[in-house]
Amino acid sequence: MEISEEVVVVGGGIAGLATALALKRVGIEALVLERSPELRTTGAALTLFPNAWLALKALGVVHKLTSIYSPLKKTGKGPIAVHRRVLLETLARELAPETIRFSSKLTSIRTVAMDDEFSSSVAIISLHDGMTIRAKVLIGCDGVHSVVARWLGLKAPVNSGRSGIRSLAVYPDGHGFNHEVCQFVDQGKRGAYVPLNDKEFYWFLTYTSTLQDEKIAADPKLLQKNVTENLAKDFPPSFLDVVQHSDLATLTWAEPKFRYPWDLICGHVCKGNITVAGDAMHPMTPDLGQGGCSALEDAVVLGRQLAKSLLPNPNERGQIVAVEAARAIQGYVKERR
Ligand SMILES: Cc1cc2nc3c(=O)[nH]c(=O)nc-3n(C[C@H](O)[C@H](O)[C@H](O)COP(=O)(O)OP(=O)(O)OC[C@H]3O[C@@H](n4cnc5c(N)ncnc54)[C@H](O)[C@@H]3O)c2cc1C
Repeated sequence: MEISEEVVVVGGGIAGLATALALKRVGIEALVLERSPELRTTGAALTLFPNAWLALKALGVVHKLTSIYSPLKKTGKGPIAVHRRVLLETLARELAPETIRFSSKLTSIRTVAMDDEFSSSVAIISLHDGMTIRAKVLIGCDGVHSVVARWLGLKAPVNSGRSGIRSLAVYPDGHGFNHEVCQFVDQGKRGAYVPLNDKEFYWFLTYTSTLQDEKIAADPKLLQKNVTENLAKDFPPSFLDVVQHSDLATLTWAEPKFRYPWDLICGHVCKGNITVAGDAMHPMTPDLGQGGCSALEDAVVLGRQLAKSLLPNPNERGQIVAVEAARAIQGYVKERR
């Protein structure tokens, strides 16, 4: 089966959903392809810094989150932790149900020249289920192992040498802690707990990777033990108490990779009407706490740029001019670099 779409976004994570929403806000309908059968919420929660809140405001959803998550005490600024599930669902709920096609894994990409006066091209996208999609614009939001980034020729991300363990901690009767971020550092280690509400914390620990990490990576109980009895044993008791209260179903380990900045500055971040956003473009270490925040920024910039490629005729609402889209994508890449 073959279908045609104006814009295809590969990946239904933070970057993909935010991009589809940013496009919707400017009148462009996109199809989001997500390989999982449902929204992927691995990672429990994340901290969003002021740049992310500005992007969420531009996307028109900030009030839906600030009505659930209140600013932290003292500054009222800085990061606010949100559940990943809530963030993804908030973005997804703004999209028409048919926008996201689950269980749809991109396997290959090619381009063909369009028979027009501008010598522009369309992307031909093949999915694992045999489906083919012709798209005027293709945006890869397919994470750190992005097929689209590889197709563009971007250099592969490299190991950061850091590992991250994160989880939700639940206190059914209320935690009684202040509504503020508490952060602790030790040689090669950084841990923090951030309240989500009166009963839950998001906690994480990043540290220099060790040889035994991979062996225990899939066992939340062992990971928790490794934090309390080894990695963070010298951290204050409050951190250990939060870790002890982990909901083990949400406790995960990751060894983040990052792409060298000069690979983005010198590499092919776009080719014609094809580009990348979020971790597919700029995977970074979790110590910055900016991967998701930057993905939201990418989406807003893409939406604003691609709005310039819309056909002006009101009868052709939502249709884009391929050659203008290529120019808009170049503008996006320039801004994001
Ligand atoms: C330990 C840790 C802590 C972090 N903490 C923070 C934080 O506090 N704040 C913050 O802003 N960021 C944080 N990050 C970074 C943040 O998690 C990522 O930057 C963010 O999730 C990137 O979103 P994304 O949509 O680009 O990629 P992803 O979340 O990886 O989403 C990619 C999506 O694409 C889908 N996909 C992949 N390949 C295909 C394919 N071939 N076809 C179809 N679909 C596909 C995947 O299933 C997935 O749903 C942290 C990361 C780690 C590891």
